[in-house]
This record gives sequence, structure tokens and C-alpha cells, in this order.
Amino acid sequence: MLFDGKAIQVELDKNNVVKVTFDIKEGSANVIGALMINDFEKMVEAVENCNEKKGVIFRSNKEHFIFGADITEFLGNFAHPKEQVKEWIFPINKLLNRIEDLDVPTVTLINGFALGGGFETCLMTDYRLAAKGAKVGLPETKLGIMPGWGGSVRLPRLCGADHAIEWITSGKQWKAEDAFKIHAVDAVVDPAKLDELGDAFMQRCIEGKMDWKSRKEEKKAPLTLSKVEQTMTFMTSKGFVAGMAGPNYPAPVTAIEVMEKSANMTRDEALAVECEAFATLATSDVAENLIQVFLGDQYLKKVSKKATKGSEKIKKAAVLGAGIMGGGIAYQSASTGTPILMKDINDDALMLGLNEAKKLLNKQLERKKITADQMGQVLNSIDPTLHYEDFAGTQVIVEAIVENKDIKKKVLPELESKVPAGTVIASNTSTINISDLATSLKRPEDFCGMHFFNPVHRMPLVEVIRGEKTSDEAVAKTVQYALQMKKTPIVVNDCPGFLVNRVLFPYFNGFARLLEDGVDYKRIDKVMEKFGWPMGPAYLMDVVGIDTGVHAAQIMADAFPDRMKMPNKTVAEYLFEAKRYGQKNGVGFYSYAPDRKGKPKKSVDASVEEFISKGKQREVQVSDEEIVERMMLPMIFECARCLEENIVGTPQEVDMGLILGLGFPPFRAGALKYADSIGLKKLEELSAKYIELGQMYAITDGMKSMAAESKTYYQGKK
Ligand code: NAD
Repeated sequence: MLFDGKAIQVELDKNNVVKVTFDIKEGSANVIGALMINDFEKMVEAVENCNEKKGVIFRSNKEHFIFGADITEFLGNFAHPKEQVKEWIFPINKLLNRIEDLDVPTVTLINGFALGGGFETCLMTDYRLAAKGAKVGLPETKLGIMPGWGGSVRLPRLCGADHAIEWITSGKQWKAEDAFKIHAVDAVVDPAKLDELGDAFMQRCIEGKMDWKSRKEEKKAPLTLSKVEQTMTFMTSKGFVAGMAGPNYPAPVTAIEVMEKSANMTRDEALAVECEAFATLATSDVAENLIQVFLGDQYLKKVSKKATKGSEKIKKAAVLGAGIMGGGIAYQSASTGTPILMKDINDDALMLGLNEAKKLLNKQLERKKITADQMGQVLNSIDPTLHYEDFAGTQVIVEAIVENKDIKKKVLPELESKVPAGTVIASNTSTINISDLATSLKRPEDFCGMHFFNPVHRMPLVEVIRGEKTSDEAVAKTVQYALQMKKTPIVVNDCPGFLVNRVLFPYFNGFARLLEDGVDYKRIDKVMEKFGWPMGPAYLMDVVGIDTGVHAAQIMADAFPDRMKMPNKTVAEYLFEAKRYGQKNGVGFYSYAPDRKGKPKKSVDASVEEFISKGKQREVQVSDEEIVERMMLPMIFECARCLEENIVGTPQEVDMGLILGLGFPPFRAGALKYADSIGLKKLEELSAKYIELGQMYAITDGMKSMAAESKTYYQGKK
């Protein structure tokens, strides 16, 4: 053994080939963190000092090669000033170079995932052989950073700038076969034979049958593109990628700029450019926030795993109501492998529900994502019915009938009487208190909420609502079912609106107060879209449905009259009276007509001004900054209340709920992370500034004491 580290081991084999094995002894997977980094230098020294070596093979003893960086550890490093980040990253680059500069051939055997720094490690060698099933990629830009260990230097030199740009800016994981097509790997082989073939490949190199020396030079030289080709490649891709990513996500465009700037440089010069850009991105708020979102996602997975411990797979489900939501739930369940009964009270509704599923499947068929056979199988596993008799054997039943408390309270006990104890009944209500609905039932322990978002197939979040009497088993089965449906569940305690709608309506109320003050709805939309929301509040109301919104707002106002009851009739209520329901009937704040693809296209509609004027109470001048404050503060304060009242367990769950359920801008990482970035003391001042507009601007007691103690929701730079 030439070196026996905690994460890396080095030995010389009988053919005088050095074998470097990545294997964190006390861990289940290889990740790049302090352990690995500490061993790396010693590994390089051991390899360099071995005079007998004829070649070096890098491999892994774990199921995967190297997953990438231990992002929690990295987040700590990124909290330092930029120069310090550079000092941390650059020495690692030098180590990778020392391997690349060896005067013997080098090969990496990629047996599983090799992502981020893991894949950059593979790129230091002359060749890469990948096992079938392995996946590689550079996902850094998704976290607001970019490759920092030579990925943006070596990949374009190996595979061409076009491919490197696509790989780095998309952050996708690629199959070994895709990597082979662009020369990012040199062969794809049977996983069981990877080591054997690695040895054979190395022998060919040693025997001079492979030109490994020119491979090394190629990676160290400037790109082989002419000036014109460079201009075409980088200009076009920058325009395209900037359009896709938007101004709030600078990492993908920065990565292209780095490749462009360093195109005519040698490897070492190019690495310095990469390092500078990496450190700038890594110390930015955007990176900190996107990394937080990634960690939030991991956290939710852990919480769900705990919640479902011991719970069995759901083999059969049912949905009551074949409307917009019922149809969507049936499709999602069937297409992710859980057969589902869909019950309605009339045949026409069932046909509509089924047709909705067919439409979605047809789109997938057209895009060649599924075969006709698979489509048939999915449709066959949606079983439409008008009778409860068919419900035998279902483990979870989602109730998705009309949003009317009295009707639900009549239908739920009827359903309960037809199924045995232990069958979970989960209501998809958007606003009605679960414990209240449970009073109509004999077995409230089997009842909870399962709140999907519209459109079901696209929206990732499901709120699982624990009523006062809901059992842990019922929660576990519902979370299990949500996971099977490939959704992200968040378990919340019961209250009107639960988490997501409870914090959305104060935001809408902030909007309503701005309209009262005569602020143009189009300007508010623009300002909030610039803030990062996928759509402004007027457009969002149109998409949700003005009728649905007004109805839900009433429920929320009844539940929290002190801060959610509006003093005057709102513009939305005037629109509702005029039957302007939004996108669903073509007129709301805006008007809608199908575009060439049949999608509703929004346009400004002068006839809405009549209703805007009706709602206007006065004329107040507000700045764009004030618009953001007046919209966001009620949402932030309501999020804090949800946390303080234990509706949600942690700031991460609040923030992930908003990102996944409402499209809260991920680069801001959620309302509470955003609150941290403003600062709680400043929020207290802003609360005082706006409190005359209503109690929705009242800061919570919890926030006040946090401000007094200089606390934050998250540990971070702020
Ligand atoms: P919808 O009006 O489109 O569909 C309701 C369906 O329920 C209709 O097909 C109706 O025939 C059927 N129905 C009525 N009584 C029934 C009974 N006794 N048994 C079986 N079926 C019955 O409504 P929707 O938009 O799908 O909403 C359903 C539920 O989902 C509501 O509670 C709503 O608040 C909630 N929800 C809706 C949305 C949304 O954006 N539409 C989002 C989240 C949650």
C-alpha cells in the first residue's frame, strides 16, 4: 500500500499500475469534503513518488464513483470573503493538474454517479471508462455556482465548446451513453467487467497503442475554434441561456463567459479565470440561497422518510370527484404506478376526468416519453365508477368534490360508512379546517387533509394536514401515497388555509390595498415579476380563478378577521360580480385568447378599468420598493405566525412549501430566508411604517424577540 487514507487508498499492482481507490471508510458514499480533500494531496504525493509506475487508474470501492461535494460543508466555506474562497479552491486545482501532468497514462473507471467535483476529478485523467448505468454531469450552476475544479476548462477542450456549454449551463445528469457520444467518456462497458477492461485499456496505453500524450496536450491547449466560430458559439449561447435563466440566476451565463474568456488561453491561465468567477458566484447571496433550497429539499426527504417509517406501499387508491383536481389526481396516481378508482356522481364527469388523463398521456406519447402500450396500461389502471361497492381494498381515498363545507360534511360520512376502519380518507380541500370536517366522521383518526395544487401533474407540493384527531398511521399512509405519486409532501398541522393558502391570501390582501390606493395592477405585476415571482398577483389571481380566489378569501377572512378581513369591497369582488373569473372564462384582470398552440395568451383589457375604479379609494404615490414591501410583508409575517403556532415544524418546511407550492423565487430561498436577508430589526421598522394599513402588517411577537436577540431563521452570512 503506497498510501492508506481514510478516504483514498493507493497501491501498486503487479503490472506496475498504480490503483487509486476512492473509498471513504467510515461512510456509505464518496463525497468531497474535508476527509477527501485532506487525503488528496497525500494521494498525489504517493502517486508521484512511485517511480515504478507505468500508469495510474482511478476507481471507487463504493456503489458510485464520487457524488460531488458535501454541500453543507461547502456552504460554510462560501461564507468567507472571496479571496479566502479562492485560496481554498485553487490548491485543489493544482493537485488535479499534477495528476494531469504525470508522464504516464491515466484512466478513470466511473462505476456509478460522478457529479460536480466528482466528475471534475474524472476529467483530470487522460481517459474515462464508464459502466453502463453510470451517470455524470456538472450540476453546479443549479446551485448558483459553476465548476471550480477545472470543469469549465477541461470539458470544452475535450468535447467542444457547444457540448460543454450545454452540459454546464443545464446542470443535467447524463447517462454514460450520452457522455460517450460527446467524447466525455471513451467507452461504456459492462459494470461487472469495468475493472478488468480498465486493466486491459491501461495495457494498451502502456504498450503505446493509445496516444495518451496528445490527449494530455489537447486538454492543456487553447480551444481549437477559429475566432469566427468562437464568436458564433459564445454569442448565440449567451443570448439563449440568459433568456432561459433570467437575470436573477447569473451562474449559467457566467460559466459561458468564463469559457469564452479563456478559450485562447492555456489550461493554467484558464483555471485562474475559472477560479475568480467561481469565487465571485460562490460568495453571492444567490448561491447561498440556491444551496439552501437544495438543502431544504434534502431535509424534506429526510422528514418524509421518518414519517413513513414502517408504512407499507399503497397498492390501491381512490378519488372521490372526477373534476379538475380528481381527474389530475387519478392521472398522477396511475401514471406513477398506483392503480386508482375514480368515483363521481355522474357519467359525464367521469368521462371528463378520463379525457383529461388521456390528453396528458397523448402529449407524452407525442413527445415519445411513453409508448402506446404504456399509455394503455396507465389508462387501464384508472377505474371509473359511480358506486362505492368497488371501493373494497383501497388504502387511501382522496376526497376532491366541490369546495363546500356542508356538502363535504354530508358526503364524507357516507364514504366512511362504505369502507373499513384503517382506510385513510384524505380531503383535498384548499381552505376548510380538517378538524372541523372530521366532526362529521365516526373515525376522525383515519381522516386528514391531502392538499394537491393545480395542475396536479405539474405542481410538486402536497400538503398533508394533520387534524386534531388524525392518527400517525393515517399521516404515514398519506405521506407514503404522496411519495409514490412522485410529489413532495410537507406535513402541517391544521388551520384554515393550512400553510400555503394561509400565507398567500395576506399577499393578495397586500395587493388589494395597493389597488385601493390607486396603484396600477399592471405595474404591480411587473414589479413583482422583477422581484422574481413567475407571475404578478393580478395574473396569478386570473390563473387561480377570481371565483375560487374570492371564495377562499372569504373563508380566510372569516377565520382570521383581525388581519384578513378587508375594510372595503375589493377589485376582485367587483370582477367576480361581473363574472370575470380570469383565465377560465377569458376575462379577469386581463383578457385571454388562445395562441397558436392553443394556450391562453394574456392581453391588457381596457374594460377592466371600470372595476379597478370601483375599488379605488384614494390616490397614493408609492415607489417600486414600497410595492414590494407592501406585497411581501403580510406574507412574511403570516409565515412567521404559522411557525410560531406550530402549523409547520421548521423554517425550511415553510420556505420549501412556498417554493414548491407557490413558485416563490428560489434564488431568494423562501419568505423566512428572505426575512433574514432584510433583517428582523428592519422588518420591525417596516411593520411600524405600514401598520396603519391594517393588522396584516403587524410583526409577530416571536419576530420581535428574535430581533431583540439578533437572531435569524437560518445560519448564514446574514
Ligand atoms: P370541480 O368542480 O372541478 O370537481 C368536483 C367534482 O366532484 C365534480 O366532477 C362533481 O361531479 C364531483 N362530485 C360532487 N359531489 C360528489 C359526490 N358526492 N361524489 C362524487 N363526486 C362528486 O372541483 P375541483 O376544482 O376539482 O375541486 C375539488 C376540490 O379540490 C375542492 O375541495 C377544491 O377546493 C380543491 N382544490 C381545488 C384546486 C383548484 O385549483 N381547482 C386546487 C386545490 C384544491
